[in-house]
Amino acid sequence: MRGKVTAEDSAAAWKGVADRFPALRRTVNAHRLVYLDTAATAQKPDAVISAEKSYYEESNANVHRGIHTLAEEATAAYENCRKRAGELVGAPSPSSVVITRNATAALNMVARGLEHTLREGDEILLTEMEHHANLVPWIMLARRTGVVLKHIPITDGGLLDLGKLPELIGPRTRLVSLVHVSNVLGTINPVAEVAEAAHRAGALVVVDAAQGVGHMPVAMEELGADVLVYSAHKCYGPMGLGFLVAQPGLLEEMEPMEGGGEMINEVFLDRATWAEPPHKFEAGTPNVAAAAAFPPALDLLESLGLDAVRRHEEELVAHALQTLATLDGLVVYGPHDPKLRGGLVAFHDPEVHPHDMATLLDQAGVAVRAGHHCAQPLHRRLGVVATTRASFGIYSTKDDIDALAEGIRFARRYFSP
Ligand code: PLP
Repeated sequence: MRGKVTAEDSAAAWKGVADRFPALRRTVNAHRLVYLDTAATAQKPDAVISAEKSYYEESNANVHRGIHTLAEEATAAYENCRKRAGELVGAPSPSSVVITRNATAALNMVARGLEHTLREGDEILLTEMEHHANLVPWIMLARRTGVVLKHIPITDGGLLDLGKLPELIGPRTRLVSLVHVSNVLGTINPVAEVAEAAHRAGALVVVDAAQGVGHMPVAMEELGADVLVYSAHKCYGPMGLGFLVAQPGLLEEMEPMEGGGEMINEVFLDRATWAEPPHKFEAGTPNVAAAAAFPPALDLLESLGLDAVRRHEEELVAHALQTLATLDGLVVYGPHDPKLRGGLVAFHDPEVHPHDMATLLDQAGVAVRAGHHCAQPLHRRLGVVATTRASFGIYSTKDDIDALAEGIRFARRYFSP
């Protein structure tokens, strides 16, 4: 992140912040929209929407290919996005940032890219609380290579059971890939502690920071991440844009997953050489409009201050935990200390199925997510097939959480005999 904002500037930026999000002005089922699904995707501020529009209106062109003015502008916008996206997480340099479609694509790219360094019997350590995006690429890799997958279990309190680390990390551990903030439990994992143990064993550390970036300060060096991935759309930026950020040397070691234009140095009929990273990972025409529209989201976060964004979400989580605790029988997953959680709460009502809950909440204008949230193994561990999740952002308020609680009471009345 760039320079710190002063407390006065930050306070001024927070005033009326929700007004900058046009979608929040609409009504749903004749109610004010209460958007509590930011963990799925954040709403977009007007500056992001207008930047994407003006890219197409003013400088639509392909990148790195032309020498005309529009192509130069498009390339500058694209490369500016790379620089800003890297600065947000303390990337070593812009060239250590690969622009991808989303966090999922970035994780697939890492698994494919490192495949040639792995042998049958090598071990990859994941956790029981991973999103499918950080499970399935490794499952696919294991099928192809015979690599063994292991998992750090979770405690009943929704924390990683670090007591198990010594038996899980050993001489054959080649890579540890874990989520920074769980998209179901909300747990902020002690990534640095896991990374230290991984590095002692000579393993690489991949961090899925999809739920952390944009919601709190994140520095890949402090986390001990060799690779960090995230998506722009979860931090108020456009869809179709994600990032793979790597420590020096790693991108050189990784093989590209896709071949085609833009990613080559020289091509002959029967062979080719690759461009230098990060370009060797960016085959074909990228989503330049999305890249042009991400920096305004970063400007907004910068003006608010990421420390203040984190404090805001922590206060909302504290309020949510307190409020949901007043609803008898409701099970809230994850740690009960707001300091250990990101801005989301998943819960289960024994009387109301999560899909019914989400449908009835929608009747009241409250948008939440119901299902397994792409974390089926975690839900199996929790002993439920689905949960309801409310997640918060910079525009969320305590009133939104009170509307959620009122909606849950309504759903309970609706289903009570
Ligand atoms: N990792 C976590 C923890 C997530 O919550 C998500 C999305 O919900 C992803 C990865 C995948 O992000 P995307 O769908 O943007 O690739």
